[in-house]
Amino acid sequence: MTDLELDAVLLSVGPDLPYLTGYEAMPLERLTMLVVPRDGDATLVVPRLEAPRVVERPEFALLPWGEVEDPVSIVAGLVGGAGRVAIGDRTWARFVVDLQSALPATAWSKASEVLGPLRARKDPAEVAALRRAGAAVDRIAAELQAGEIELVGRTEAQVSAELGRRILAEGHHRVNFAIVAAGANAASPHHEPGDRVIREGEVVLCDFGGTMLDDDGIGYCSDITRCVHLGEPGPDVADAYAVLLEAQQAAVAAATVGASCEEVDATARRIITDAGWGEQFIHRTGHGIGIEEHEDPYIVSGNATALEPGHAFSIEPGIYVDGRFGFRLEDIVVAADAGPDPLNNADHDLALL
Ligand code: ZN
Ligand code: ZN
Ligand code: ZN
Repeated sequence: MTDLELDAVLLSVGPDLPYLTGYEAMPLERLTMLVVPRDGDATLVVPRLEAPRVVERPEFALLPWGEVEDPVSIVAGLVGGAGRVAIGDRTWARFVVDLQSALPATAWSKASEVLGPLRARKDPAEVAALRRAGAAVDRIAAELQAGEIELVGRTEAQVSAELGRRILAEGHHRVNFAIVAAGANAASPHHEPGDRVIREGEVVLCDFGGTMLDDDGIGYCSDITRCVHLGEPGPDVADAYAVLLEAQQAAVAAATVGASCEEVDATARRIITDAGWGEQFIHRTGHGIGIEEHEDPYIVSGNATALEPGHAFSIEPGIYVDGRFGFRLEDIVVAADAGPDPLNNADHDLALL
């Protein structure tokens, strides 16, 4: 906050508040807001009826507000005449707009400028939580590759529901997504699993993950993509996968401390482009992961951020051929002084079932 010349940070719904306090705000019309002044103590302004859910900590004072009080003026009073305030990126517009009216002399910015770099660098306990979640989805990926999850004759939606059940059975407390895309549907990276029946002779792309609670009750995410092929793939399909595998492994190896995010992206992209599939790699190579499925640092062209020990992110290049098939291969990796530390170790080959 001192570096950014901020006088206060205001946090409401979203992951920044639990990251700092262990408390997750209810996404309600009643305002919950942590007021963090640069100097002095933090205050958690919370609806009185939610106060019993707050586990109090010495890092903040609790200030419950009653049903007929105005929480915006309470927050504005705590901020005082502050000149520069950063507010949580996910804060509802109705509160931002009212706070801006109540504090007309204040200059506003996004709290991600403060919290993004802090949250991006995971401490050992956070890495351990991500590793547990990663190992859980690895086991499901291995079951998929071993043919233990029935595919042929079922719909994408049925397989997606089964992945979701397995994500919970493996200890996650929430399923975040379970993409199942068969055949030509796999050419759409975020395909919504539907009534399409899975058939022999096609690729099935599965990208799934959930949130697993750590010892403090804060959730950390898993995210993995593996593809299987039902029967022998044609030569160009096999070639696309071989190129993708080489690109993904090279990008993982390039994700060393000190390398820039855009260099890691370029490593995967160069291999795919040189093989002639560059036009079919239509998204960035990866995203940071932690309390959120997608957070800093983004592995994308234009991001010169150098990887630091504890940065956790996906490496997930893809090749998508419209109307025919698609592939993506995704691991979560942590940058470490000893070298890239992959949290997913399920087999990387295209399993033939
Ligand atoms: Zn995605
Ligand atoms: Zn994914
Ligand atoms: Zn991902």
